[in-house]
Amino acid sequence: MSENILIVEDEPSIADNITYALSTEGFNAHWCASGREGMAVLEAGRIDLVILDVGLPDVSGFELAKEIRKLFDVPIIFVTARSSEIDRVVGLEIGGDDYMVKPFSPRELTARVRAVLRRTVGGSKPVQPVESKSKPPFLVDETRYSISFLGSQLELSRYEFRLLRVLVLNPGRVFTRDQLMEQVWDEPDMSLERTVDTHIKTIRQKLRAVTSDEEWIVTFRGIGYSLKELS
Ligand code: CA
Repeated sequence: MSENILIVEDEPSIADNITYALSTEGFNAHWCASGREGMAVLEAGRIDLVILDVGLPDVSGFELAKEIRKLFDVPIIFVTARSSEIDRVVGLEIGGDDYMVKPFSPRELTARVRAVLRRTVGGSKPVQPVESKSKPPFLVDETRYSISFLGSQLELSRYEFRLLRVLVLNPGRVFTRDQLMEQVWDEPDMSLERTVDTHIKTIRQKLRAVTSDEEWIVTFRGIGYSLKELS
């Protein structure tokens, strides 16, 4: 069974290259040139992964991703012409599973597609925590990939969930950025180390939105991060 990949990209030459690369690798590629068309295809049938251009004519790729996330549980790989947009992709609550900056090689793209499909279809990569139970005020729901904090369910992207999960299951233990990369990201060498910092920042913002009484994630300068020891 080959996976159905939706490509939402308004530049025909890029869409052609992506379609060709995916087809030769055995994927079913469906191309749409606008966000509206893309949503229609998603609604019509089973799509296993979306490759989404950030700069679309009718709607921003970020806005479209939010809409997609509300309605479908489908992984998204962003493609962008500007590397300055990467921070938005990884940092905000958009929940992209990966991103690529144009120009990229077809080979790199299909490798990313496979990697994302592997971890989203074949079950997420298990992390090996020292302890396996969360303690109040955090509650990790492994089956729903969600974490609640002081009774409020946090809206977390896939990586934010994985990152916070590692910290929450090991309160008081200090993790280096490398260790977090290793535990949370599937292909650590393909990601930037600062993405750990970016994700920690957004997780902190989400915790502060619940309560700003305490700093729950402690920074160890030059080393990494830890969840505050829980009593
Ligand atoms: Ca474009």
